[in-house]
Amino acid sequence: LISLDHVSKSYGANPVLRDCSLKVAPGEIVVVCGPSGSGKSTLIKTINGLEPYQSGTIMFEGKVVGARSTDLPAVRARIGMVFQSFELYPHMTALKNVMLAQTHVLKRSSEEARARSLELLAKVGLSERAHAYPANLSGGQQQRVAIARALALDPIAMLFDEPTSALDPEMINEVLDVMVSLAREGMTMVVVTHEMGFARRVASRVVFMDEGRIVEDRPSAQFFEAPDTERARAFLSKII
Ligand code: ATP
Ligand code: MG
Repeated sequence: LISLDHVSKSYGANPVLRDCSLKVAPGEIVVVCGPSGSGKSTLIKTINGLEPYQSGTIMFEGKVVGARSTDLPAVRARIGMVFQSFELYPHMTALKNVMLAQTHVLKRSSEEARARSLELLAKVGLSERAHAYPANLSGGQQQRVAIARALALDPIAMLFDEPTSALDPEMINEVLDVMVSLAREGMTMVVVTHEMGFARRVASRVVFMDEGRIVEDRPSAQFFEAPDTERARAFLSKII
C-alpha cells in the first residue's frame, strides 16, 4: 500500500533521510521509533507529500507521491494524519471540526457530514462532548477529536506522529485505546511513538531510525526480544 524505495532528503546541506526503504502492506501497523532528530517526523510527512524529497520513490496505492506526483491532493485525502499538537479549530465545536473537511473536501451535504461525524465521535468515545469547544476539552479528548476528524475522510491509511507525547499520563491510554481498536479493525497505520506497550500489543513491525537511516525493520516480537543493533538496544534500555 505504501512503499518507499531508497528515499533521501536533506534540508539544505543537512541530510535527514538517508536511503530509506520501507514497505507497508494493507492492514499492517508499523511503529517507528528512534532518538530525537533521527528523522521520524520527516519520514511520515514525506509519505504524506507534506515534504518534498530529493531522490528515491514513494508510492501510495501504486501512485508516486511527491513533487513529481500529479494527484497529490487525492493522495492526501486518502491518508489521515494525526500530529502531536491536535491543531483543532478553536472557534469550532468538536462536531464542526469533524464535519469541516467532509463538506469542503468530499462535498458531503451537511446532514450527511453531521451524521458521519456523530458516528465517529461515538467511536472515539465522545458522543457527550460533540458540542464542546476545544478549550473545554482535555488534551486526550482533543486528540480523540483529531483522530475522528482524520477518519472523517475515510482514509485507507493513517499516519500518527507522537499522538500521545503532549498528553498527561492519565490521558495517554484513552488515545491509545482508540488507536488499538482502529488497528484491530484492520486500518493500515504508521505510528511514530515511544509507547512500547502499544507497539508490543499491536505493531506488526517496528522500524528503528537513527541519523536519518532505517537501521532496523523487524517483526515487533523479534525487535523487543533482541534488537539487532547496539543503537537500538541502547535506545530501548533508556525508554523502557
Ligand atoms: P523528534 O523525536 O524530536 O520529534 P524526529 O525523529 O521526528 O525527532 P525530525 O523532526 O524528522 O526528527 O528531524 C530530523 C532532522 O531534520 C533534525 O536534525 C531536524 O533538525 C531537521 N529538520 C526538521 N525539520 C526541518 C526544517 N523544516 N528545516 C531544517 N531542518 C529541519
Ligand atoms: Mg518528530
